[in-house]
Amino acid sequence: MQYNDMAVGYSLNIYKGCNHGCIYCSSRGEYYGITDFDNISFEDNVLRNFRNDIKNIERCIETTGGLSDPYNPLEQKYKLTQKALEIINEFNFGVCIITKSDMITRDINILQNIKTHSLTNVAFSITCADDEMCRMIEPLAPLSSRRFAAIKELTRYGITAGVLLNPILPYITDTEENVRGIVKKAKEAGACYIYATMEVVLEDLQREHFFIKANHLFPEINDKYIRLENSCVFRSPYEKDLHIVFAEECKRQGIVFGIHNSDTVTRNAKIFATTLLNLCKQ
Ligand code: SF4
Repeated sequence: MQYNDMAVGYSLNIYKGCNHGCIYCSSRGEYYGITDFDNISFEDNVLRNFRNDIKNIERCIETTGGLSDPYNPLEQKYKLTQKALEIINEFNFGVCIITKSDMITRDINILQNIKTHSLTNVAFSITCADDEMCRMIEPLAPLSSRRFAAIKELTRYGITAGVLLNPILPYITDTEENVRGIVKKAKEAGACYIYATMEVVLEDLQREHFFIKANHLFPEINDKYIRLENSCVFRSPYEKDLHIVFAEECKRQGIVFGIHNSDTVTRNAKIFATTLLNLCKQ
């Protein structure tokens, strides 16, 4: 099978929870059933189970990072993501990784090995062009500037890397300056694509967490969000203009791009990963 024909398959979540502290994190939602989200945990036999699973499924592109960051601070010590990548390589599978961490550059050699036989794609989740805003809304994640630098490093070694501009927070990050800044920096870093959504999904526990943090950081936000609310999807009032600005800047910079344009909330990491992979094949 040619790697371009490989389907997106298994969604690998080695770690449960994440301590990067993003105020909007959708993985806090009740739907995912992760208790004590900020304290990361993992099962003792997670890699043994993964090896058993991969032996018994058809070759495909593994996805990871949809539910927790595979390069959280515990990864420095336990190297479970690194070991999972080695298994992926051993079985000739492909990989699509979503992360906010430049720790991934540690594994460039394994990603290069995977790339010799299968599609390899790293999507950096970046929501702020500016490190100051990043520090406020993603307080414990590596700064945006480090993520852009990591894209540069990965692409220098031939690894396909792009930007996932998701979510956009109404009245916080939904500015033309932010959108243009992310596209420009993505291009400068050598990103192969950029995919954007101009909205944020806020449900149950995650919504409570968001408003506690957001009210503290941006006290005027509550009233504005009440006016926006008609479902769990909160769209920027400037959404249409931002779509135009985003597309215009991507064309100007000459970067492959896509825009999420659906009224439905997708919790299916496979659908998301397939979209990213289609972009990185362009
Ligand atoms: S890095 Fe991802 S999983 Fe971790 S807190 Fe931020 S949004 Fe959630």
